[in-house]
Amino acid sequence: MKKEFAVIGLGRFGGSICRELIAQGMEVLAIDIDEERVNEYSEIATYAVIADTTDEAVLKNLGIRNFEHVIVAIGDNIQASILTTIILKELGVERITVKAQNDYHEKVLRKIGADQVVHPERDMGVRIVTNLVSNNVLDYLELSNEYSIVELIAGIKMDGKTLLELDIRAKYGVNIVAIKRNEEILVSPQAEEKIKKGDVLVVIGAYQDINRLEKKMSEE
Ligand code: ATP
Repeated sequence: MKKEFAVIGLGRFGGSICRELIAQGMEVLAIDIDEERVNEYSEIATYAVIADTTDEAVLKNLGIRNFEHVIVAIGDNIQASILTTIILKELGVERITVKAQNDYHEKVLRKIGADQVVHPERDMGVRIVTNLVSNNVLDYLELSNEYSIVELIAGIKMDGKTLLELDIRAKYGVNIVAIKRNEEILVSPQAEEKIKKGDVLVVIGAYQDINRLEKKMSEE
């Protein structure tokens, strides 16, 4: 069954979330207070409505609590973003993701029960810099303030060695959860698996530990 999403606020961020969800075959209710923006999305989203989401009655009438996931992408108007989130929470929406403008905004959103808070500009900045400063890091996913999943490219130092020989878990306290080799993905590789130069290692662990591993790998 298709998952049902609602996206509130159709600026650049909310708009691209809406397009991508549709591209992935989901049902999307697109909401904005601005008529022009709603018109822009009337052909793209499954439904598009003009509404002020700081009005509880409006959200109730839209049946918002029946949507599995609501994304609040109201940017500059922090007050409207907070009020909308509170109402969604009170109406019992299962999953709420909110775009935060700054750290204070994020703190409040977490306090009032947002399930996920995103900072698209900041997160993208960190991601791009991570790629710029390291040749070995392909991508990363932040799991918490402490832990992440990182894709590292195996260099010559690892070439031909088994996971057992490299003993990465004991030496660095991180786990290799998968290896991408050409089109193939080896999930939960065995200790006897031999690494080849150019393999993409999907590593999970604490930042400092992954960093240590990455630095060691770069010393070639
Ligand atoms: P981005 O940074 O994602 O490009 P933006 O700067 O375009 O966003 P804003 O204009 O601050 O973002 O807000 C996003 C959208 O949220 C706007 O289209 C705005 O009309 C809408 N919006 C603001 N307040 C409300 C509200 N109370 N109810 C519904 N939509 C709202």
